[in-house]
Amino acid sequence: MVIKDIKTGIIRIPLVTPFKTALRTVEHVEDLIVCVETDSGETGYGEAPATAVITGDTLGSVQTAIKDFITPAIRGMDIMDMDGIQRKLHSCILKNTSAKAAVDMALYDLYAKSLKTPLYKLLGGNAREIETDLTISVNDIPQMVSDSLEAVKKGFSILKIKVGKEGFQDVERIAAIREAVGKEVRIRVDANQGWNAKDAVRIISRMEDMGLDIDLVEQPVKAHDFEGMKYVTSRTFTRILADESVFSPEDAIRICAERAADMMNIKLMKTGGIYEALKICSIAEIYQVECMVGCMLESKIAVSAAAHLAAAKHIITAVDLDGPSLCKIDPYEGGPLYDGAKIVMNDTPGIGICRVPVTFS
Ligand code: MG
Repeated sequence: MVIKDIKTGIIRIPLVTPFKTALRTVEHVEDLIVCVETDSGETGYGEAPATAVITGDTLGSVQTAIKDFITPAIRGMDIMDMDGIQRKLHSCILKNTSAKAAVDMALYDLYAKSLKTPLYKLLGGNAREIETDLTISVNDIPQMVSDSLEAVKKGFSILKIKVGKEGFQDVERIAAIREAVGKEVRIRVDANQGWNAKDAVRIISRMEDMGLDIDLVEQPVKAHDFEGMKYVTSRTFTRILADESVFSPEDAIRICAERAADMMNIKLMKTGGIYEALKICSIAEIYQVECMVGCMLESKIAVSAAAHLAAAKHIITAVDLDGPSLCKIDPYEGGPLYDGAKIVMNDTPGIGICRVPVTFS
């Protein structure tokens, strides 16, 4: 099964409500879809969003990387030579992790299809079902309380609250949400780099003193502020999760070896796909640092690729794959079942998406 061509197209899906973090506000998923074609007529699908504020990638840059660099580098290679293809994919252009991720997942889709097995089983997994949290966007307090209650009503028992815009007012937000949803709901807090190290320690300590019982705090300080991450991690009891601070396996080694965070958030768009994400899982296993698998504003192709990874690895103990839940419609056919907080894997070979309503060129 030889790679013949890589085609791309755009999918646009409205969100149920605008997605707001300390970094941006977005109303649509607008992602590049990748279709890798083989000489035997098989197709593998991948997807990449343009998350310029985090990865630096735009739809145009993703498309150019695929058309001008990745396609010529791997065209003509046999899909069974996965290791060889991956070496080419990751050496033909620097960075451009979203483009690499989209192609990587399409390759794994094809690889698993050719072996007639669902991807999570190929990756060594046996978990039929995983549970995701749901993101609550940054808004005024009454809105966030009502969004949180709505999420709990829909069956989500883990909420990921976006904060980081207003320092100590963030504590009031979390306190109001905790009071409204009660003790049983797990609350995660994502500051998206919105605090400095000293404020982060004050804010997190305050939440600890108030007994708000926070599951973890994600990326309190700037991505490049490695010392700041270490400062916060060593001075608080709450688990600190590195997100924007960890893209590559090299980042993961440094985070783990220097204990700069208690957990790491693996996202395919940061690692450049599953192949590199597996390396981070191995590093995390060695250091016994638990991982979250997360997503950007992605629809069901990319999120499902991440779900297969999550279902395959025990070191992944937290799942933040709410992309499809945030979308107003599901335009695809096939793939894992997204049933509220539950993501149910099935035995369809590959990632499982079989119909993609996109015009490829
Ligand atoms: Mg995050």
